[in-house]
Amino acid sequence: MHIFVIANQKGGVGKTTTAVNLAAALAQAGQRTLLVDLDPQGNATMGSGIDKRTLGASVYQMLLGLATLAEVRVTSPSGNYAVLPANRELAGAEVELVDLERREQRLRLALARHAAEYDFVLIDCPPSLSMLTLNGLCAAHGVIIPMQCEYYALEGLSDLVNTIKQVHRNLNRDLRIIGLLRVMFDPRSTLANQVSRQLEEHFGDKVFKTLVPRNVRLAEAPSYGMPGVLFDKNAKGAQAYLAFAREMIERVGTWSKEQAA
Ligand code: ADP
Ligand code: MG
Repeated sequence: MHIFVIANQKGGVGKTTTAVNLAAALAQAGQRTLLVDLDPQGNATMGSGIDKRTLGASVYQMLLGLATLAEVRVTSPSGNYAVLPANRELAGAEVELVDLERREQRLRLALARHAAEYDFVLIDCPPSLSMLTLNGLCAAHGVIIPMQCEYYALEGLSDLVNTIKQVHRNLNRDLRIIGLLRVMFDPRSTLANQVSRQLEEHFGDKVFKTLVPRNVRLAEAPSYGMPGVLFDKNAKGAQAYLAFAREMIERVGTWSKEQAA
């Protein structure tokens, strides 16, 4: 089981779009996939075709120890992957977790019992470096950072990188940055191309080869409760996420070979 957290403390940078479409693309490639929604906005839940207003239990109850993963888990009707759904209730967890023992490890412990059931677990985070995001970072083997190639993109990055380093040092030795994913990319923009090149120079092979273009079909898909890769699989955005899933499967395969050697 490979656990990846999709994090960036900025809002609107494409975390949820990446989480939902990567989950659906991995599932389509035959990978047993679980998507964890850690954002009280519940966008990954809705985007997977699950109504956040009518949930029985949600990831909130699981984190507080009031329900098990199996009780919370639902299947995306459109996407053929499992989801631990979220809604506004989860905002309360931020405060309620503070009094609990090992409060930052709740997600990791819940996932550990199901390690044999999934090839990939993807965790969608809220736009903050909060206790919820910390639970995501503590549970994961790797961080995927979606980012837009804009002038200020690199500024926020150092806070995130420092947080990841601290978590690595103090809480989760397995954690590493898997890669930066360039999203909402506009190939005609000179600035976007410049920032993209800077990223490649600074971060080398930590920049994913796949570039996700700005594509309106990806933005339309959630209102149909469908991942973009299923809503219009021929659209450029969908094709990019399908390619990204292949890139992820390839990377994971390389590590397994390295470990075996
Ligand atoms: P986050 O989860 O980081 O807040 P979202 O994934 O919700 O970001 O994306 C923010 C907005 O941008 C959403 O309306 C989404 O539909 C849109 N969006 C994300 N990626 C793309 C893309 N590649 N092309 C066009 N729109 C996109
Ligand atoms: Mg989001």
